[in-house]
Amino acid sequence: MSDTAPVDPPATVKCLVWDLDNTLWRGTLLEDEDVVLPDAVREVIVGLDARGILQSVCSRNSHDHAWARLRALGVADYFVVPEIGWGRKSDAVRRITEQLDFAPATIAFIDDQPAERAEVAHHLPQVRCYPAEDAVKLLGLPEFSPRSVTVDSRQRRTMYQAGFRRTDEQARHTGSHEDFLRSLEMVMSIGRATDDELTRVEELTLRTSQMNATGVHYPDEALRALLAHPGHEVLVTTLEDRFGPHGAVGVVLLEKHARAWHLRLLATSCRVVAFGVGTILLNWLADQAARAGVHLLADFRATGRNRMMEIAYRFAGLDDRPCDCRGGVSGGPGGPGGPGGSGGSGEDVQLLHLVAGRRDAPTTVRLIAPDLTDPAPAGAGLPDRARRPGGPVG
Ligand SMILES: [Zn+2]
Repeated sequence: MSDTAPVDPPATVKCLVWDLDNTLWRGTLLEDEDVVLPDAVREVIVGLDARGILQSVCSRNSHDHAWARLRALGVADYFVVPEIGWGRKSDAVRRITEQLDFAPATIAFIDDQPAERAEVAHHLPQVRCYPAEDAVKLLGLPEFSPRSVTVDSRQRRTMYQAGFRRTDEQARHTGSHEDFLRSLEMVMSIGRATDDELTRVEELTLRTSQMNATGVHYPDEALRALLAHPGHEVLVTTLEDRFGPHGAVGVVLLEKHARAWHLRLLATSCRVVAFGVGTILLNWLADQAARAGVHLLADFRATGRNRMMEIAYRFAGLDDRPCDCRGGVSGGPGGPGGPGGSGGSGEDVQLLHLVAGRRDAPTTVRLIAPDLTDPAPAGAGLPDRARRPGGPVG
């Protein structure tokens, strides 16, 4: 999860830090209670939020006073880890950067005072600084225009806010880790991916490294082809708990043959390793295969970073034993259309095997999942059946 993005070309901004007086709002709060938030600035706040760019505040004011004003203006909820106080702004921006675990090159700072911008730029040269008059132009700048906006980008702020509350709760928790997991009231939903969700599936295949079984990047077109292909399952897993959504946390690409189901890819987000998502998914797949009366085969390719995934596979019982069912299945990293990225030859892909028995349901999450033993997906019409009416999950 290295976040040391290259500075050149500039990475997309992941968090914009706003000064308040005469930057976010017109006026100085200490002198005039009735500071004004221009509509154009409000549109920028809402627009950046919708693109999945987080926003924070760095202001010289009394915290309670300024926060109350942000609330009254109806925008307080848009800001995470605010720094409102009297210290140096570079220190405040650094604390924001650290709390979000972002690289300084992905942080932007906007302030009407040239001296404040200079102070931040001096101590944090990778942070991009903008004068207040640029506020209304931000939505048009390339560094504030992410390549794609997914379901999860749109709820990124909510996910971070939930994450902070969850972390606080965990720090206070005194029982076992399993007790803590149960206290979260987690709901894990596995669903057949819709067209809308393919971008978030692609992102997961890109961003997961430790918990990615092959390290193969499946671009959007390849996933789209899989989705339309009978006998293939493209599954997205989302997770939420009583604090809020985690968003999409896992992807499964499965090829169903008569005697065996071939797991082409299992990847889960490293954000949720501690919640056991990979193990729960594997157990569910094993159980589904047992119910269908088929063996489970799984591609695994060591990437140097995914040892954790190999352990999860081995722990679930997958091994190298010979079996007749291997005959009808081709290994190798490619998907339809030969996905790009770090594919390489098929020779370094191991085909792991399991004769699964029924598995117990997980005890730490409530699992909502389709029935893969339903024979219909092997025939035509999978995309229609797969499309859930409710839109995005999680
Ligand atoms: Zn077999």
